Parts: sequence; C-alpha cells; structure tokens
Amino acid sequence: MGVVIVTGVPGVGKSTVMNAAKDYGYKIVNFGSTMFEEAQKEGVDNRDEMRKLPVEKQQDLQKQAGDRISKMGDVVVDTHASILTPSGFMPGLPEWTIRALNPNIIVLVEATAQEIAGRRSKDPSRLRDADDIDMHQKVNRDYAATAASIVGATVSIVENHDDEVDIAVEQFRKVLNK
Ligand code: AMP
Ligand code: MG
Repeated sequence: MGVVIVTGVPGVGKSTVMNAAKDYGYKIVNFGSTMFEEAQKEGVDNRDEMRKLPVEKQQDLQKQAGDRISKMGDVVVDTHASILTPSGFMPGLPEWTIRALNPNIIVLVEATAQEIAGRRSKDPSRLRDADDIDMHQKVNRDYAATAASIVGATVSIVENHDDEVDIAVEQFRKVLNK
C-alpha cells in the first residue's frame, strides 16, 4: 500500500474526503495533530497558533511529527503542502519531511476559491486567515511537485466541489487503487 499524503488549503474538506479511506484499511494520521501534541508540551494551547510561531520552532515541531509518523507504517497523512506563516509560505513537505515519510502518492484536494471561502465562513471552530486562496492553491501545486520530485511520488489532484463530495471520494478511491 505504502504511504499516501493528502494536502489542501484549510477548509477545502480534505479530512472529509480522506475519511473514506478508513473503509479501505488505511489508518489516517493528522500531521497537525501530531505536531500539536508536541507543541502542547511546550505551552502552545491552540493548534491555529502554531503557524505564527518562529519558523525555526515550527520546523522543530515538524521534524518531531515527521519522525513519529514515519514509524507508523502504511498510513494516509492529512497535512499541508505549504503553510501560510507571517514570513511567507513555509513548505509542509520540505526535504527532511518528505524523505522521512517517503510517500508513493501526494494528493492535492482542491475546490474553487469561492467554495473554500464559503466553507471557512461556516466553521467557527477554527481561526482561518483571510488569505488569497487562489494564490495559496497555486503555491501548493508548486510545493507538492517539488516534494514529489525528491522521492519520485506521483501527484494527483482531487476536486472537491460543493455538493459533490461523493465524486471527490470516488476520485480518491481510484487514486488509492481500491
Ligand atoms: P490542520 O488542522 O490540518 O489545518 O493543521 C493544523 C496546523 O498544523 C497547521 O495550521 C500548521 O500549523 C500545522 N501543520 C500541519 N501540517 C504541517 C506540516 N506538514 N508542516 C508544518 N506544519 C504543519
Ligand atoms: Mg482538517
């Protein structure tokens, strides 16, 4: 089976799409939650605060999470190709992380900027940034391609449009070869 990485801008619905993979025998691991467990030991108390920490600190947490997840065997990893920090787009899959995870496939879940903005406005549980969604999705494609080239992974784009989550899940199933 191998490792599969699923990425997408906040609010695109990647967790919803990948939940379907549970039926195919994959274990799902959330990279941000694993990072947050490490961050909490150091007094960070909101997962949406992590992307505002100094980049070096975020990279330390990223390395700890990557090391832990790399020991879990075949998993689907819920994460980000890039993270919007105050100092720019930080790679979610830099060389050290992509080598540690060594995925076969990197999936980008995408939707239109309008759809994503609408979904974000309906989720008061998270502190989302008012960013340029089209720009972020473009950066994510570039960063995913760069990460894929390091390990020879394939890149697949799954479209998750409004009221068409079934189609997205079906696309994802095909990517997993299930
Ligand atoms: P999420 O719940 O998937 O939006 O992730 C929560 C937070 O975890 C993100 O806002 C980032 O701060 C952090 N995070 C998730 N994946 C990565 C990654 N690959 N590299 C660095 N930070 C990450
Ligand atoms: Mg999520």
